[in-house]
Amino acid sequence: MKYKCPKCQTELEWDSKNPNKPFCSERCKNHDLVAWANEENKFAGSPEWDDVMSGEIEAEVGRQQDKLF
Ligand SMILES: [Zn+2]
Repeated sequence: MKYKCPKCQTELEWDSKNPNKPFCSERCKNHDLVAWANEENKFAGSPEWDDVMSGEIEAEVGRQQDKLF
């Protein structure tokens, strides 16, 4: 079975023993993880995310108070 590395589009033969699949190499695999981590950081630093988080915290505090009273 042939497929393409999602990172560099190199055509590869499927190898179930390849520890980097679906990527062609460790370099492609790690590069993708780095990009993903950067996306996560961007998301976490965005004002929308802060709003979501503070909303979640308020909801959790409300739940804790319901238990207390
Ligand atoms: Zn690749």
